[in-house]
Amino acid sequence: MKALPPDHAHPTPRGGTPEFPSASTNPCKLCTPLGACLAFKGIAGTVPLLHGSQGCATYIRRYLISHFREPVDIASSNFSEDSAVFGGRRNLHHALDNVGRQYHPDLVGVATTCLSETMGENMPMLLGEYHRESAADGLARPPTVHVSTPSYKGTHAEGFNDTVRALVESLALPPRAGLNAPTPPALLPGMVSPADLRHLRDFAAAWQSPVTLVPDYSETLDGGTWSDYERMPTGGTTVTDLRALGRAAVAIECGLVLAGAKATAGTHLARRCEVPLHRLGLPIGLRQTDALSDVFADLTGRPTPLRLAHERARLVDAYVDAHKYLSGRKAIVYGEEDLVASLAIFLAEIGIVPVLCAAGGRSGRLEKAILTNAPELANRIEVREGSDFADIEERITALKPDLLIGSSKGYKLARALDVPLVRCGFPVHDRLGAQRIQLLGYAGTQQLFDRIVNALLEAKQAHSEIGYSYL
Ligand code: SF4
Repeated sequence: MKALPPDHAHPTPRGGTPEFPSASTNPCKLCTPLGACLAFKGIAGTVPLLHGSQGCATYIRRYLISHFREPVDIASSNFSEDSAVFGGRRNLHHALDNVGRQYHPDLVGVATTCLSETMGENMPMLLGEYHRESAADGLARPPTVHVSTPSYKGTHAEGFNDTVRALVESLALPPRAGLNAPTPPALLPGMVSPADLRHLRDFAAAWQSPVTLVPDYSETLDGGTWSDYERMPTGGTTVTDLRALGRAAVAIECGLVLAGAKATAGTHLARRCEVPLHRLGLPIGLRQTDALSDVFADLTGRPTPLRLAHERARLVDAYVDAHKYLSGRKAIVYGEEDLVASLAIFLAEIGIVPVLCAAGGRSGRLEKAILTNAPELANRIEVREGSDFADIEERITALKPDLLIGSSKGYKLARALDVPLVRCGFPVHDRLGAQRIQLLGYAGTQQLFDRIVNALLEAKQAHSEIGYSYL
């Protein structure tokens, strides 16, 4: 192993239990409002607005732009010392006025940063005052949806999921007499790439079923070129679609760890609107994609569409072709909990042991989510919640992984170990095409599978003294 770079050389001394360290060095998670902004970008005509300091918006913009390589506007209430002391009411109202005047949005998505959360800003009261005062002055204002996102309590994935829940809770209307015609199934895919969102829509179309994706940033964060700058890119789930979700034929919510949460967008639709809820893993690999197929088979009463059957058969054939390269290999998987869970289950399916599954979140549900769905991994893996790269590094020597799977954040560690890094999740900002990385469905799994096999073959060639050209 090469010498590790300085910021990894001396793990931060940590107290607390090994599972829940009290401090972290380069954690496997990002800022919670970042997830909120990403989810808001998937709602048509929506401007994300951070109630807090300008720096938070700048940091999040930089991360989203480097991953998606698209312009990302995020407004801020621009806290100063005054607002930190006396409260941010004036700044928030001023920011909402500016956003309304400059963007004419259909919706403003308001997320609270660490600072405004620590101050205990009463957001329902501040937003209520704004709308009441505007109405009294005869001013039309776009609706607002607020999500509480203190970053010291959560991860970017939790910020994303909480925002989807807040959108559905605020906007989905329960069925009413005379307005009971069912609307398309609601597909709540979690934090996936724009290419995977498009693939999910195609997957449903193969079953001849439309779906409402919530959220849908497949165009807003992976669009074409513009001749003139557009303040709000076209695309996204419309507010009308969100209002109709209460009459959805079914709701399909992806995320095995999320499935253990008490309150989600899916549980809200099930409880308030009696929409049947299916809670599945991210459809990566045969088992988890078959589970999604089963839902559509039940829903449509159709056999598996030929196109999907062929994609599945090709994937099985690839598994057979490559088993000799994969059997018994060891991987470290890190990132957001639901991605780690579904990747681990997929790796078990192809014969790779995910010896360390490390996530930034601390739901307490990750290990169960993996082992319930891949019981063959029992006693063969370590699952670490609230993990960071110092934590992972501590286990590297003993685990001797053949590859790492996760975001670009693992690059330094992969380089020091001289093992391949298969990039997925968020952020991927040292390669082009993060927004087109596919993981989902039989077709997405095929792409991931080929990338993993080829990364291992490439490493084998690179380390060979002979340099085999025929492997
Ligand atoms: S202060 Fe909190 S909200 Fe702002 S960028 Fe940092 S982690 Fe995110």
